[in-house]
Amino acid sequence: MAETQKKIAVVAIGGNSLIADDKHVTVEDQYQAARQTTFHIADMIESGWSVAIGHGNGPQVGFILRRSEIAHKYEGMHEVPLDVCGADSQGAIGYALQQNLQNELYHRGIKTNVVTCVTQTLVDLGDSAFKNPTKPIGGFMDEADAMRRKNEMGWNVVEDAGRGWRRVVASPQPKEIVELDTIKTLLSVGICVICVGGGGIPVADVGEGVYQGVAAVIDKDLASSLLARELKADLFLISTAVEKVAINYGKPNQQWLDRMTLAQAKQYLAEGIHFAKGSMAPKIQAIVQFLEAGGKTALITNPQNIGRAMRGETGTWIVNE
Ligand code: ADP
Ligand code: MG
Repeated sequence: MAETQKKIAVVAIGGNSLIADDKHVTVEDQYQAARQTTFHIADMIESGWSVAIGHGNGPQVGFILRRSEIAHKYEGMHEVPLDVCGADSQGAIGYALQQNLQNELYHRGIKTNVVTCVTQTLVDLGDSAFKNPTKPIGGFMDEADAMRRKNEMGWNVVEDAGRGWRRVVASPQPKEIVELDTIKTLLSVGICVICVGGGGIPVADVGEGVYQGVAAVIDKDLASSLLARELKADLFLISTAVEKVAINYGKPNQQWLDRMTLAQAKQYLAEGIHFAKGSMAPKIQAIVQFLEAGGKTALITNPQNIGRAMRGETGTWIVNE
């Protein structure tokens, strides 16, 4: 079938890049940001790429949790567990991307269907990340509330530099994408799939093939990399808030890069001073994993420059050579 011969791109969209700035956080604002990114993805589909879209959800899950906390505190509403917040965010962000992309493709007369797949990502409960949860989640609490939740709900809580108490969860490695076969099948018949939102909902196999949601977060760049590896993607594109990657980022000798080899990427990562932990470092790590598994090219740029970058005019290209 012709569709299976198409080149496959995995495009990972940053949760932060869907929020232009702190004055543009409403659902409508996020919809408009999604529109800009999907316009460029429509260009890729128009020029013959088969596209799987992954996305982040950090700020969006933060909003869902805050709503849940406020509704619980003032109205006694039930709270939303973290895995379900992840599912909610996949649905809402997926909807914004899906509808925008469908509208744009329809406008161009391109008959490609788009679907959002609620995706679970398998994690290992033995992952060392569970021994030392570090990822802060949700709002600040006072000490009494933190202790109550620790005792009654088994939360891990930490005191955050005098600002109050916060819940922390683990960020384990993604082991397997549960819906992988479904995603592959959809792509093979020409459907554009939005999946692994927020890195996927973390689930553990609790025995005899029974999956159960886990209160953890998975790095979306690492999960998108796993997807790109499993799909043997021709291109792994990370769309984020910067046009290019820099070495010596934020220092007087900062230097924006047009191109990096796999060996250079590994060296810069090892030097530990170039890519901020928790933002750029996991992206480079994700790309190193993709290239080491045989991937050929990866690209990091921002939504507005995807088109120019695809023409080789900008962005940072990371290549396997
Ligand atoms: P996303 O939501 O797309 O994952 P992040 O904020 O996690 O976004 O990561 C992207 C951010 O990483 C950029 O906006 C930039 O501020 C920061 N960053 C850290 N180190 C670098 C670097 N070496 N080069 C470019 N950007 C960097
Ligand atoms: Mg990030």
